Amino acid sequence: MINDGTPEYRFAPPGPRDEPKVVGECAWCGGAIYEGDEVAYVSEVEKIVHEECEVPLLQREFVVTRGIIGADGVVE
Ligand SMILES: [Zn+2]
Repeated sequence: MINDGTPEYRFAPPGPRDEPKVVGECAWCGGAIYEGDEVAYVSEVEKIVHEECEVPLLQREFVVTRGIIGADGVVE
């Protein structure tokens, strides 16, 4: 339905053509990514994820070792 400013438009139930367009699939959760969603493009692995799925994807894709660094520079 086209927004022509009429009461018929403003009070019409949403139709399937009014839904945001699905433009992709999240590489982390597998959910749909809709036009207008806030996303992160991780160029290193060329994947698009929801903004909230960015950190878990990065943690999986990039190995990070956290710990205490010793005098020899080794993190344990
Ligand atoms: Zn996601």
